[in-house]
Amino acid sequence: MHNQSEQFASDNNSGICPEALEYMLQANQGSAPAYGNDIWTQKASDYFRELFEIDCEVFFAFNGTAANSLSLAALCQSYHSVICHETSHIETDECGAPEYASNGSKLLLAKGENGKLTAEAIEGLVTKRTDIHYPKPKVISITQATELGTLYTINELLAIKETARKYNLKIHMDGARFANAVAAMNQSPAEISWKSGVDVLCFCGTKNGMALGEAIIFFNKALAEDFDYRCKQAGQLASKMRFISAPWLGLLETGAWLKNARHANQCAAYLEEKLLGIDGVEMMFPREANAVFAKLPEHTIQILKDKGWQFYTFIGVGGVRFMCSWNTTQARIDELVNDIRNSQ
Ligand SMILES: *Cc1c(COP(=O)(O)O)cnc(C)c1O
Repeated sequence: MHNQSEQFASDNNSGICPEALEYMLQANQGSAPAYGNDIWTQKASDYFRELFEIDCEVFFAFNGTAANSLSLAALCQSYHSVICHETSHIETDECGAPEYASNGSKLLLAKGENGKLTAEAIEGLVTKRTDIHYPKPKVISITQATELGTLYTINELLAIKETARKYNLKIHMDGARFANAVAAMNQSPAEISWKSGVDVLCFCGTKNGMALGEAIIFFNKALAEDFDYRCKQAGQLASKMRFISAPWLGLLETGAWLKNARHANQCAAYLEEKLLGIDGVEMMFPREANAVFAKLPEHTIQILKDKGWQFYTFIGVGGVRFMCSWNTTQARIDELVNDIRNSQ
């Protein structure tokens, strides 16, 4: 029973939201030109330009690892380096794909509270060495919302933009949960992307409610030169691309992308509030988007697992990540909270 119910392991565990599915079904009527030469891909790309209030280049990839790796490769040469947080997905969860796709561009890791890079930490890495033996820093990669469920504020983004300008660095944004950031910050997509200096954004549709599909958005159009070839070579050019772009259009046109993200964020806020009411439960990081990281006693974690609850504990002993999604329900949160309370 638990297997079919909503879980808290990842927003990847949820299914396809109705709006994405509806558009996918519409795109399934009859035939359409292949390799992105269809009307759905055109409309979805135009919609992104409207949403971001800028003439940008839009590409689609199957998953986030490919989107991140290929876009980073487009931003630097093999002898360059990418500055990222030590907990970033590109460092910890992509099996070396960014280095592989770029023929060896090295990731330079920075520490920073709550999963966030700071302008100071970036500056420290850039100025540490300037000799020819060190891979030249070329890109800053930031994740919004972060892997720890926190958000870069506009001021933090602008400080990073400043540092990027000072040292001639490009900015890549891993937007696996970009929609959640927009929803939580009440800022326009433009404000927290290109207006904050982002050159390329990997905007995740999968976690937001699609079956699969990421949009890679180049605000700096010069950097997109030949990117279509890079995607094709990497096996990321979908022949039936309309089945990625149509559901994207479904999310965008109906506003489901924002509705889904708001819902997930609200569920996480509700879960946090309930957990804070239980003795012995502490939050590990500020809850700012759709993830709740809590410290739970070991025996509680074991009881939850025995009951079939799914969640990640990779953050460290006693640390549990509960991720909310478009399909999380208050009833399931209440069930989870009850099981935690009763295990104490
Ligand atoms: C989920 C996620 C991705 C994409 O992962 P894939 O499994 O490759 O789709 C990228 N970055 C972050 C921060 C993520 O959480």
